[in-house]
Amino acid sequence: MNKERKLIIAGNWKMNKTTAEAADLVRDLKLDLANIKEVDIVVCPPFTALGEVSKLVLASNIRLGAQNMSEHNFGAYTGEIAAGMLKEFSVRYVILGHSERRQYQKESDALISKKALAAHAASIRPIVCVGETLAEREAGQTEKVLDTQVRGSLAGLTKQQIEETIIAYEPVWAIGTGKTATSAQAQDAHKFIRQLLETLFTKTVARRVRIQYGGSVKPSNARELMALPDVDGALVGGASLEVRSFGDIIKNSI
Ligand code: PEP
Repeated sequence: MNKERKLIIAGNWKMNKTTAEAADLVRDLKLDLANIKEVDIVVCPPFTALGEVSKLVLASNIRLGAQNMSEHNFGAYTGEIAAGMLKEFSVRYVILGHSERRQYQKESDALISKKALAAHAASIRPIVCVGETLAEREAGQTEKVLDTQVRGSLAGLTKQQIEETIIAYEPVWAIGTGKTATSAQAQDAHKFIRQLLETLFTKTVARRVRIQYGGSVKPSNARELMALPDVDGALVGGASLEVRSFGDIIKNSI
């Protein structure tokens, strides 16, 4: 597939997999995906498995991501993990503002932008998640919600930092539900986000930023979604937990 930007496909394992299970999956993925050069492949295990997975992905084409991090660098923040601690495991990416964290931990756009700045300061690329709920879509507010989330979550980032940020458009109603956005819905949302980036930054920045789609991506719909002009990859939840489905999503996207 000839794409303007290199595809980036990341697996968000959420709160799944013990260290031993994580190691098994990564060993299998390394074998299955050894020849893939066309896609940036990222796995985001739980914190507890980062150490083990980090050793296994060394010298492979798989990069390591985390699922969250603190906006602070150190200190009295019980239960939090700082960017510098992720760097110890050669973490290259961090998912920020996933809708589950926005919902359950009440993460705000302002907090997400602080985390994004802290990630960039440690040379970790944030994957910043945005997306509307079903009620918001049905009320015709999708663009308004995306506008607010993109502006707020990326506030204060420099042009260079924006270019190194990945945005994940994840309609909340499509996450873990088996319902996928139609190609038209996905392309419209991605195009809207890119045009907004052009307004907020420059045309060049907007052309360079990679925007992933997330929400029930599976091997059967990956090709169509990844072929859309403004879709530059996928953030995959459920289907990233098995070598067959994650591997096939990647292979079907090329
Ligand atoms: C996600 O949680 O980021 C996600 C896209 O999940 P799923 O693929 O299971 O819908």
